[in-house]
Amino acid sequence: MKNSIYGLTIDQLKEWFLENGQKKYRAEQVWDWLYIKRVTEFAEMNNLSKDCVQLLEDNFAIRTLKETVKQESADGTIKFLFQMQDGNLIETVLMRFKYGNSVCVTTQVGCNIGCSFCASGLLKKSRDLNAGEIVEQIMQVQAHFDTQQKEERVSHIVVMGIGEPFDNYTNLMGFLNIVNSQKGLAIGARHITVSTSGIVPKIYDYADEGLQVNLAISIHAPTNELRTRIMKINKAYPIEKLMAAIDYYLEKSNRRITFEYILLRDVNDHVEEAHQLAKLLEDKRHLSYVNLIPYNSVDEHDQYQQSTPEAISAFYDALKKKGINCGVRHEQGADIDAACGQLRSKQIKKEKKEVTV
Ligand code: SAH
Ligand code: SF4
Repeated sequence: MKNSIYGLTIDQLKEWFLENGQKKYRAEQVWDWLYIKRVTEFAEMNNLSKDCVQLLEDNFAIRTLKETVKQESADGTIKFLFQMQDGNLIETVLMRFKYGNSVCVTTQVGCNIGCSFCASGLLKKSRDLNAGEIVEQIMQVQAHFDTQQKEERVSHIVVMGIGEPFDNYTNLMGFLNIVNSQKGLAIGARHITVSTSGIVPKIYDYADEGLQVNLAISIHAPTNELRTRIMKINKAYPIEKLMAAIDYYLEKSNRRITFEYILLRDVNDHVEEAHQLAKLLEDKRHLSYVNLIPYNSVDEHDQYQQSTPEAISAFYDALKKKGINCGVRHEQGADIDAACGQLRSKQIKKEKKEVTV
């Protein structure tokens, strides 16, 4: 199994060429073919010597993900299910907005955090994706535009697919470096958002990186009692520790942070919780934005239902009245299982059924 060439930063590729008896400027040529001309075969790189093409072919692959399902929603959202070289399935979602095309990427096969409302957490993590497999998701979506001869580009990225990105930190950093690089896709750091369930030590590390990439925190509840009930990671990293790490990040970056809050009917959607949340964020109101997410129902989690529209708007109003910036996330691709991990878990169930019949 050959590794994806998309996993190397340009400096790593230069280094690799030097180690393999080639000139380092080859790396810039290869990156131009990969990210600007976007070829999918090394043989098409016609300004490289035959030896150099052979060397690349012997050591790397350009395509390692096989598209197995592509579902298009009425609102233009497209969900891709890819099979990796080892047979594992991952999903990637393209969302169309007025401001651009945003791609939601997967970082792990399954997730060990096991939040009680999430389809991804139903399946224990079987492995981390390497940087190349994360970058390739973007390249496959870009290829979807390219083959239609559309001038469109992937302009935004959200790291909110299956997995906990801060539990795959090194590969996440490689991925961010590669997609942000001026010599490649040049997707602006401010157009990229990484979402974490709150792995506290990694929030400190991330703050120290000094990146301009946006950070989103899945908060989902304003008290330890409630948060532990729906996200067991809160036992390891309770709200006080999480907030201290966030304060450190805000001080270092001075960048606005997003708090994600899934609204679960009669669980965390009362006005009282809105007030508790407002209190929690009071001292960082100027640098906070709360994204209210209507819960997308997952078959296996039938203990939860979506909040009523009345409860959603009462929660929103209560936050606004306390001076908290917030919005309700508009559901994308609801008709195609676009919630985190849903398509993949359905596909796996289907395959299991097919095996048993
Ligand atoms: N592991 C990271 C990133 C992936 S999850 C994290 O938890 O932040 C990305 C977002 O999708 C999280 O805010 C998560 O809470 C949300 N999500 C998961 N399951 C959902 C569901 N059934 N309905 C709506 N949002 C969901
Ligand atoms: Fe993992 Fe995020 Fe799902 Fe929690 S919400 S189980 S951290 S993917």
